[in-house]
Amino acid sequence: MKTQEYIALEEQYGAHNYHPLDVVITRGEGVWVYDVDGRKYLDCLSAYSAVNQGHIHPKILAALVEQAGKITLTSRAFRNDQLPLFYKELSELTGYEMSLPMNSGAEAVETALKIARKWAYQVKKVPRHQAEIITCTGNFHGRTITTISFSTEPLYRDDFGPFTPGFVTVPYGDANAIAKAITPNTAAVFLEPIQGEGGVIIPPKGYLKKVAEICKKDNVLFIADEIQTGLGRTGKLFAAQHEDVRPDVTVIGKALAGGFYPVSAVLADKEVLGLFTPGEHGSTFGGNPLAAAIARAALKVIVEENLILRSAELGEYFIEQLSEIPSPHVKEVRGKGLLIGVELNEKAGGARRFCEALQNKSILAKETHERVIRFAPPLVIDKETIDWALPLIRDVLNME
Ligand SMILES: *Cc1c(COP(=O)(O)O)cnc(C)c1O
Repeated sequence: MKTQEYIALEEQYGAHNYHPLDVVITRGEGVWVYDVDGRKYLDCLSAYSAVNQGHIHPKILAALVEQAGKITLTSRAFRNDQLPLFYKELSELTGYEMSLPMNSGAEAVETALKIARKWAYQVKKVPRHQAEIITCTGNFHGRTITTISFSTEPLYRDDFGPFTPGFVTVPYGDANAIAKAITPNTAAVFLEPIQGEGGVIIPPKGYLKKVAEICKKDNVLFIADEIQTGLGRTGKLFAAQHEDVRPDVTVIGKALAGGFYPVSAVLADKEVLGLFTPGEHGSTFGGNPLAAAIARAALKVIVEENLILRSAELGEYFIEQLSEIPSPHVKEVRGKGLLIGVELNEKAGGARRFCEALQNKSILAKETHERVIRFAPPLVIDKETIDWALPLIRDVLNME
């Protein structure tokens, strides 16, 4: 079957909740993906940073195949021999005493919000069902009813209310706004250290540090959503570490399983995560042995292949080179590590057409927020490949 035939089937039988580029991928390897017509592309999206380790990393694949032949799902009604090792290795890598595994990122976000509310009632003694959680404009935390309840993007919300109460939204990047929004009932401040879907928005220097100080002073939990920014993407294990901040709770997902499987987790110390008691929260698939084995291998690859340092060094190079491209369309190039956004001028006619032009030049990137092209290749990319891509990107950024 050819590209157009696959697309026709998808359009006929699938809900149209995405607007993908018209490329039908059939296999991938490292930073490269191949379409059904045999064309090869550089993946500059990495499945929204879920494939930081590169497509079909052989070590993660081996772990998947081995575990799939043993036991895949026990449910948490019984114990399995992978989950304890996953817990231990995740704790040793991240420095948090405990974790709670879920599947999608949105589920881990919901889990973090639930534990923050429980902490507010049990520890902070907020009157029951009065807890407030502060969120930021431009956020993206998933697509569940609760996570869209505090979205500020009309498209994500307009037809989907009524919404979950208990959330207050303040401007992103403004620490004073957070300080002002805190009340005796505030359980947590919940934000992304860098907003990925929001358009690779980097907050002002010192923001995270200030937020952490405010939270500490006012006895409020600081929860970071590092689902996209975590696990090396920005050149640190966690983006909050760029400001030496250690939030009380960190939420991870995406690259936690290297693109093989949906695995997410909430990380925190015992005084917070230890508050859950049996039966209060759960997931049939969360913490299953296949997920745990895959995630263990995916974390090991990040460490063994020095992907964090690689992201820092190559990201700096990529950003610098992109910044030097003369273009009538570019307003700003920004990023941390290999999470890079090229913001276009208002007159450029939207990022979509630039992404389509990049596709024609064998580079797959995706627009985020109409005017930003995101470049976030797998962290296993090398300098030669970036040098191959740069002239192609330059051509596209100079089209009519
Ligand atoms: C992708 C993402 C999510 C949602 O993860 P899903 O696995 O799609 O549910 C939440 N927060 C951030 C910051 C994300 O980038």
